[in-house]
Amino acid sequence: MKPIQSELKAWMKKNKNFQTSYQNIRKEVLDDPSIKHFLANHPELTSDIIDKHLIKLYEYKSQSKQCDRCKSLGGCQNMIQGYSPVLEADNNDIRLSYEKCHKRLEEEQNEQQQKLIQSLYMPKEILQARISDVIQDEHRSNALGKVLDFLEASKQELPKKGLYLYGSFGVGKTYLLGAIANELKKLEYSISLIYMPEFVREIKSSFKDDSFNEKVDFFKKADILMLDDMGAEMQSAWFRDEVLGSVLQYRMMEGLPVFITSNYDLDQLEQELSTTRNGVEQVKAGRIIERIKQVTTDVKLSGPNRRS
Ligand code: ADP
Ligand code: MG
Repeated sequence: MKPIQSELKAWMKKNKNFQTSYQNIRKEVLDDPSIKHFLANHPELTSDIIDKHLIKLYEYKSQSKQCDRCKSLGGCQNMIQGYSPVLEADNNDIRLSYEKCHKRLEEEQNEQQQKLIQSLYMPKEILQARISDVIQDEHRSNALGKVLDFLEASKQELPKKGLYLYGSFGVGKTYLLGAIANELKKLEYSISLIYMPEFVREIKSSFKDDSFNEKVDFFKKADILMLDDMGAEMQSAWFRDEVLGSVLQYRMMEGLPVFITSNYDLDQLEQELSTTRNGVEQVKAGRIIERIKQVTTDVKLSGPNRRS
């Protein structure tokens, strides 16, 4: 705020005919449409009050309001980049303050989302997985048929059900998930692929920085949610019921597909989910399994262990 005030004073000093200059500036300020609008809304402001606060009005006039003169945040021409002036009248006083502008808020939101996406765990080899590599494999025909059906349908509209892919360690479940994700990316769907233990860690750590709701929301609302390796990490009943349960419930209601991989079939998973630090809760585990059945079709992936 200082630069404009001192600039104005210096300018006034230089001008010998101070009164004329002052009157010119006053007229220029009062003729400005934004100032006219403000004063029209506040008929209680007398000439004296206006004169007393003329510098504030001048400053308000000179600034871009909610990006009306700026093309981008980087090109913001205001004294404080990314802040827009707000003029208020209160009890015969005129107050000038600054708030974050639209463009700045937008940018902050983007940064926030970027952070959420980066927090997902996805190894490089999975990012590069290709469906054509999987197709050549005769062991996978049943699962692959379902995958190809899903991908084909997605070209028109995203199916409401994804897949629950189960099978033993090393048969290529995670790899297949990556390949599906890569195909869906080409169709411009947004995909969240996360490794289950990382999901639990991520949600728990979000309490420290208040991003809990935002993160859970992100998993609820992604076009396609992929949870890799569901199983033994579920020691917390709270995570099972309040986080996983609520994410699945939301997606079930909205018809948003989920892909899950696991070493367990659904009966075995139910047993795993029922045992937490709280003891054995069969009904609550059953509820999660019901939701999984609503958002996925289960299919077994078999074949040799490809890890060597
Ligand atoms: P799972 O998740 O079932 O335990 P992975 O997907 O991690 O198994 O696969 C085990 C290993 O085999 C990984 O190193 C993976 O990259 C590799 N792999 C799996 N499927 C294929 C495939 N179709 N083509 C090439 N490599 C594969
Ligand atoms: Mg895996």
